[in-house]
Amino acid sequence: MTLTRILILHTGGTISMSADENGAVRPDAKNPLLLEGQKILLPENIELVVEDFSNLPSPHITLEIMFELKERIKQAVNENFDSVVITHGTDTLEETAFFLDTTIGDLLPIVLTGAMRSINQLGSDGLYNFECALRVAACPDAIGQGVLVVMNDEIHSARYVTKTHTTNVATFRTPTLGPLGLVTKSKILFMQELPEAKRYDITHTQGMIPIIKAYAGMQGKFFEMLADTLKVEGLVIEALGAGNLPPQTLPAIQHLLENQMPIVLVSRCFNGIAEPVYDYHGGGVELAEMGVIFCRGINSQKARIKLLIALNAELSPAELRTFMEA
Ligand code: ASP
Repeated sequence: MTLTRILILHTGGTISMSADENGAVRPDAKNPLLLEGQKILLPENIELVVEDFSNLPSPHITLEIMFELKERIKQAVNENFDSVVITHGTDTLEETAFFLDTTIGDLLPIVLTGAMRSINQLGSDGLYNFECALRVAACPDAIGQGVLVVMNDEIHSARYVTKTHTTNVATFRTPTLGPLGLVTKSKILFMQELPEAKRYDITHTQGMIPIIKAYAGMQGKFFEMLADTLKVEGLVIEALGAGNLPPQTLPAIQHLLENQMPIVLVSRCFNGIAEPVYDYHGGGVELAEMGVIFCRGINSQKARIKLLIALNAELSPAELRTFMEA
């Protein structure tokens, strides 16, 4: 049996925090996952190398940090690691996972995990999720699956997974499609295959791309303000339903499009995909004709990262559209 070398990168989050006597959860100076006496059950022939990459709550994670993580993982390939497990706060875990997947997701198995309950809380899920993530990272079937998120006995693709509950341990879900696979007592089961994805390993992460959520009665003022006062490289709009907007927003959006700003639209619905279906004023058909790019099946926080990757990869407008629409 060959030896599987797994690099573990701890970045912080509840998985490495403890609760005090009043129940307030905060980072520890020493990652509790590293303390003596923590027992996890692993398959044989695994070598673990542990690195404290950072000790940050995940709302402190930036695109620069995601970029550094990506560079560290690329180095791990040269150091003959077979796979990487990253522990991460759950609030922005899906964004880091998506960033890694869309840049270097085909290099080697990369598995992210976290916890909803800190290490000393009743029913803490951290060590268990960590053990499951290591088992998935050691499984040959994980090769070629892109970046994975393993939580609560489920394996999700970084492409679609999202945090859906503030506190429940079953918080990570893949809308519309469901999980890629399962972690059972004795097996790692992959039950779905995703189509090939285009990836761009970018060398910088510059640009401001805000997300704007649409709502009933929305006016164009906010879009105008954005264009006038901020230097914005692109925009992601969480549109209504299948991909529609209140008509009052259209003149300002038209103005931004005429100034060559890429505007990407996703749906604010949890399930389903955005597409130009409705042919009324403000409907998806009109938006698509104006040049708004419909980004299917991913949420706004992922669309923002995808657009940022597209801009930093310096894609032509046509390439950017193809990449975003895929
Ligand atoms: N607020 C925490 C974080 O994202 C939540 C968690 O890790 O579950 O760092």
